Amino acid sequence: MALLVQKYGGTSVGTTERIEAVAKKIKKFKDSGDDVVIVVSAMSGETNRLLSLSGSITEEPAGRELDVLLSTGEQVTIALLSMALNKISCPSKSYTGGQVRIQTDSAHTKARIVDIDTQKLQLDLASGFVVVVAGFQGVDIDGNLTTLGRGGSDTTAVALAAVLEAEECQIYTDVDGVYTTDPRVVDSARRMDEVTFEEMIEMASLGSKVLQIRAVEFAAKYNVPLRVLSSFKDGPGTLITIDRGNEMERVAFNRDEAKSTVVGVPDIPEIAS
Ligand code: ASP
Ligand code: MG
Repeated sequence: MALLVQKYGGTSVGTTERIEAVAKKIKKFKDSGDDVVIVVSAMSGETNRLLSLSGSITEEPAGRELDVLLSTGEQVTIALLSMALNKISCPSKSYTGGQVRIQTDSAHTKARIVDIDTQKLQLDLASGFVVVVAGFQGVDIDGNLTTLGRGGSDTTAVALAAVLEAEECQIYTDVDGVYTTDPRVVDSARRMDEVTFEEMIEMASLGSKVLQIRAVEFAAKYNVPLRVLSSFKDGPGTLITIDRGNEMERVAFNRDEAKSTVVGVPDIPEIAS
């Protein structure tokens, strides 16, 4: 029996049908004996919709108010997913970041997590609940709502996996793993079974949007095994790890640049040329 933290992104919870499909997937893990903590994003397009609402009132909203607004997106999905789980007899409880007490600093719209209280989550897990936590949000020391920056649900998932000492943090998304290059552009792109944290951070800086870069850095720092998988089709996905595994040349994609990693080169002056 393992403890898994699974994160489902906006596309994976983009409609109520998809939310119900995700609930079924989660129930399978629960039924096989795993404890699961779920982190969800807002339904796809919702965060942008909220941003444009605020934009139609002011170009310069107070960060505090923007965070109150933006954090509603994830609050919708946690409630709907918990309802869908309960409906299929998979007891579940939803939590906003503040209800868990995911404490952050006060840097509105780009807050950093400083502490997570795991007590309620652990009690619920012990009582057999699937716990569904809102990604991307927290509260500061004064109880103000905060958000972690775009793509921040990944960071919530990794942080929860770290504090709960989960076996794995699984990021379910609309791609089935991390590719050698952009599969939409290059036909020969291959899904990698494993990739290192360093390579992942490099790829993110080259424009790969698979994971929020902060989430990868956080996972590397706390040595959280992180896996990217598809919500829509079964498969092993890509494990992101510090173990270099089978080393090989890897290439990431950017419209103007390519990067290759050549390994096993002897450390001799001028060998790089
Ligand atoms: N909903 C937020 C965003 O769209 C956070 C996330 O999805 O990770 O950026
Ligand atoms: Mg994302």
